Amino acid sequence: MTNTHPNHHSHPTAGSDKTNRTIDIGINLMHRSFGGDRDQIVQTALEAGVTPLIITGTSVRSSEAAADYARKHPGRLYTTAGVHPHDAKSCGGRTLQSLRDLAAGGSVVAIGECGLDYNRDFSPRDMQLEWFTKQVELAEELELPLFLHERDAHEDFARILRRVKPPGVPAVVHCFTGSEQELRAYLEMDLYIGITGWICDERRGKHLRSLVKLIPPERLMIETDAPFLTPRDLVPKPKDGRNEPRFLPHIAAAVAQCAGRSVDEVMRQTTETAKEFFGIGFE
Ligand SMILES: [Zn+2]
Repeated sequence: MTNTHPNHHSHPTAGSDKTNRTIDIGINLMHRSFGGDRDQIVQTALEAGVTPLIITGTSVRSSEAAADYARKHPGRLYTTAGVHPHDAKSCGGRTLQSLRDLAAGGSVVAIGECGLDYNRDFSPRDMQLEWFTKQVELAEELELPLFLHERDAHEDFARILRRVKPPGVPAVVHCFTGSEQELRAYLEMDLYIGITGWICDERRGKHLRSLVKLIPPERLMIETDAPFLTPRDLVPKPKDGRNEPRFLPHIAAAVAQCAGRSVDEVMRQTTETAKEFFGIGFE
């Protein structure tokens, strides 16, 4: 773990105040929709005070691409290394070793995203269960936190974590969109909760708005999950419809409103939590 105590040196960066930085813990920066302007996305995020970014790895290939890209932006980009449940069917004998090699490379701050997705079942459930379990064990082996994905699979997901994950391995359920009962179960299991712009959706995000205040501030992190989940209430709406990390303060504002806290406090606390969770400091 690196030293996560806040330091008070000032390294002013154009357009961004060090004291006003917010970490986006989940951005799919290697997604093809960012292929033409990836550097620009990182730069405008920085100018909006959203830095560092943690790139979500969703397959061995995307995790490798993320690590290669992050190497060019030290201190600004970190990555996860893992296989999304959709891709469990592509896992094989070399998968775990590839993830181990990646984790040795320096930019990797978590194993994932991994978990279960019974919403679309792009991989057979037995394969999802197998590769979720193996990645939880890998996180323990490598002493890295877990970046977790769960859709419509709460019971199996909780069962595996209770059985396989030691208490010493921190884990965040990213893009939480579940029920109050599921949220309470995750909090009892000492999991962290990642909230996206889903809560900005006045229809399908409605239930989530009332749940946010149940999350203890020190267990809450925020993320865009860009290019997906563009907040529906952005004004003006992005012309290309694409979500970007620079919209994270908008999500923080929605979280603050739902939780009855100030935006500054939400940005500061979620960032402190993320720094400690992922073991990253600011340069
Ligand atoms: Zn996910």
